[in-house]
Amino acid sequence: MDMPEPDVHEGSILVEAIAVGVCGTDVEIVEGKYGWAPPGQKHLILGHESLGRVIDPGSSGGFKKGDLVVGIVRRPDPVPCPNCAVGEWDMCRNGLYTERGIKEIHGFMSERWRIEPEYAIKVDPALGILGVLLEPTTVVTKALEQVGMIGRRSYWEPRNILVTGAGPIGLLAALSVKLFGLEVHVLDRMESGAKPELVRALGATYHSGRVADLKFEPDAIIECTGVGQVIADSIKKVGANGIVCLTGVGHGGVVTSAAIADVAASAVLRNNVIVGSVNANKRQWYRAGQTLARADRSWLAKLITRREKPENFKSALERKPEDIKVVIQFSEV
Ligand SMILES: [Zn+2]
Repeated sequence: MDMPEPDVHEGSILVEAIAVGVCGTDVEIVEGKYGWAPPGQKHLILGHESLGRVIDPGSSGGFKKGDLVVGIVRRPDPVPCPNCAVGEWDMCRNGLYTERGIKEIHGFMSERWRIEPEYAIKVDPALGILGVLLEPTTVVTKALEQVGMIGRRSYWEPRNILVTGAGPIGLLAALSVKLFGLEVHVLDRMESGAKPELVRALGATYHSGRVADLKFEPDAIIECTGVGQVIADSIKKVGANGIVCLTGVGHGGVVTSAAIADVAASAVLRNNVIVGSVNANKRQWYRAGQTLARADRSWLAKLITRREKPENFKSALERKPEDIKVVIQFSEV
């Protein structure tokens, strides 16, 4: 639909959209299962994985015309809660935060958008369209930061990290762990195709069976599927003093009280930690940018498996088996 030009109150920097990544959250919003329009409005502009080019930096210092930028998604709650007050909006306690393209603020799927300078992240111009991978990389960066902080509660020398799920988050997690110099294993249902190839190209090991059948105990597991069986198996499989970091959001499945007690007992007896992680703060946005800048560009490029024009947004929202990351491309880089 036609929308008015973005108003200057939405941010002093005017940006021309280059690309917007599509993820499961967008599909849920379109299906009416999640998401909130801005107060008093009936529509929400989708899109939270942005990449754009500055066409007018306004009065903000530090940005100039032509800069490639990505918009931070979450805004602190207005109260604010203690975490939002110190800039940890990803850890908001009262749930009153807002999010571009998800919760009460329009997203980035429009030809032009505005952003406040403090919520605009400059990306390495050499990354080009790969800058659209920054937002999913921030999710991974926070998750790994949490794992690292929890690991330091005792003497901890991690060697093996398992990533469950070889979607964009899982693959970016594998990349990030590899850049730390650790041994990486990735498990996914797919037995062939781009996912196993991308994992092997990182120098990581690919597994297509069940977590329960793995022949080693991972020091930490980054869970990116949200599938109940994979989560339960991960909690049982992780090594002593291990950490299972949940990043996938699933629904339903079979749960019994006995299974919960078994899972809890295995965590108690081995000092394991199960931690959920969502969103990211500004430090993690910055670090995610460093990760992308250090990564092999040809490897990153293979994560974007489909580019759709804005008028084909319906096709962009459909999930095809060979898809990893689908982006809607508004203009050339
Ligand atoms: Zn808050």
